[in-house]
Amino acid sequence: MQLSLNNTFTSELPADKILENSRRQVHNAVFSYVNPKKTSAPKVIHTSKEMANQLGISLKETKSDFFKNVFTGNKIYPNTTPFAMCYGGHQFGNWAGQLGDGRAINLFEIEHQNKNWKVQLKGAGETPYSRTADGLAVLRSSIREYLCAEAMYHLGVPTTRSLSLSLSGDNVLRDILYNGNPAYEKGAIVSRISPSFLRFGNFEIFAARNDVKNLKILTDYTIKHHFAHLGKPSKEVYLKFFQEVSKQTLEMIIHWQRVGFVHGVMNTDNMSILGLTIDYGPYGWLEGFDFGWTPNTTDRQNKRYRYGNQPNMGLWNLFQLANALYPLIEEIPPLENVLADYKTDFEKQSLAMMKSKLGFFTENKNDLGIIQNLEDTLQLVETDMTIFFRNLSNFSDQNTGLKVIEDAFYNFENISDEVKKLWNSWLKIYAKRLQEEKLSHQQRKEKMNAVNPKYVLRNYMAQLAIDAADKGNYDLIDEFYILLKKPYEEQPENEKWFAKRPEWARHKVGCSMLSCSS
Ligand code: AMP
Ligand code: MG
Repeated sequence: MQLSLNNTFTSELPADKILENSRRQVHNAVFSYVNPKKTSAPKVIHTSKEMANQLGISLKETKSDFFKNVFTGNKIYPNTTPFAMCYGGHQFGNWAGQLGDGRAINLFEIEHQNKNWKVQLKGAGETPYSRTADGLAVLRSSIREYLCAEAMYHLGVPTTRSLSLSLSGDNVLRDILYNGNPAYEKGAIVSRISPSFLRFGNFEIFAARNDVKNLKILTDYTIKHHFAHLGKPSKEVYLKFFQEVSKQTLEMIIHWQRVGFVHGVMNTDNMSILGLTIDYGPYGWLEGFDFGWTPNTTDRQNKRYRYGNQPNMGLWNLFQLANALYPLIEEIPPLENVLADYKTDFEKQSLAMMKSKLGFFTENKNDLGIIQNLEDTLQLVETDMTIFFRNLSNFSDQNTGLKVIEDAFYNFENISDEVKKLWNSWLKIYAKRLQEEKLSHQQRKEKMNAVNPKYVLRNYMAQLAIDAADKGNYDLIDEFYILLKKPYEEQPENEKWFAKRPEWARHKVGCSMLSCSS
């Protein structure tokens, strides 16, 4: 396996001078050199062929021992120097100081077909940033990250990618519910890929330490490699950089809202500077449409990162990034303008996104009202978001009525007449509004189906794959991986995955309740 390497990060950015892998505060450095931990019995259980292909790695090579050893951290690729990044972050609204790659180790950068990809292992052992934890990851959370990142990519949502999922062969102790019942679980390692793993927190840590010199070095590097079209760094370019990060962050969150993805831990250390979905932890997919839903049990009290609050939290995080970049820009009003634009752009883009989900392609000043009315109606009784929007494309006129969306209701038999009346009245408005559209029913249906996925990684589906994998059967991982490559297509043989969450999964740990323990 011959990789084409170009390690810009380690060659252009300041490294921690201390080489010892001890837990500490790291100053004046963007990263620390650290080697992954050897594992007792590494075994690759899945690889993303699409991602391997984009890295110039052949299918045959992914099956080699060399691949296995490199992508589980058991062999260091020749002439490379693995490292962990230093970053800080605001967690649940509070400044948390230095965090860093506590269980992520960056291996190298691959250049292929004019693209530069950073390669990182998650769960490959401790680093100077591991704080009180072990630097490892368990199989269940690794399966969730591995599958979801690839699923998001195929949904058209900006995201980091997955290359491989492996067992380490070691056991890892975890207290899933934080209730004093730790148990051993299988350890695992995901190799993940991204043009950059930089987070808002990488910039915040320097600002918090008044280290403007390194803040500038890091920002200049980021602009040079990821925002080169903005030109040579200057005050104006720093501002434009912030503007672009703001736009890309918003774009990502609008996609999340469209497909019903709830990240679960939108702390600033989990916000990618490129607006990519990163760090798949206690995330979840909406089953019943509910603005108030969060999958993360740690956030159950305040529901800070609930579905309906994600756009606001994106803005809150951008505000923190604005503070961090302020020393380079030194003017408040233009930064405030960018944040104000986020709000107006959100209104516009959210409306456009919802219109596309409903099949409205012409202008109508009543659309916002129709959408708000729908969002209220959707929350009257438990209504499956994915099934509702997908089946709505079969609605053509009032005669097709409630029947078309019946499957989306979790308890259709017991829906009150009152609720049915409200649904019928919304459908009446919808039918009338559709009459103004110029496309044929078939054309509209095709367009709606291209934005309303048929298949998403429902929370219980990931759990089924986890339960089977825990017993040594990896077939479901592969089945979901293949299914989710074509989320917008009809796949008659896979109709069983276009179904509401089964009742057994309603309150099951891993399906509706997820913690940060991973
Ligand atoms: P998260 O909320 O999962 O993004 O994690 C916040 C911070 O904790 C990050 O800096 C992680 O690297 C670190 N972290 C999470 N789990 C572990 C672990 N098992 N070992 C070491 N560090 C961890
Ligand atoms: Mg994280």
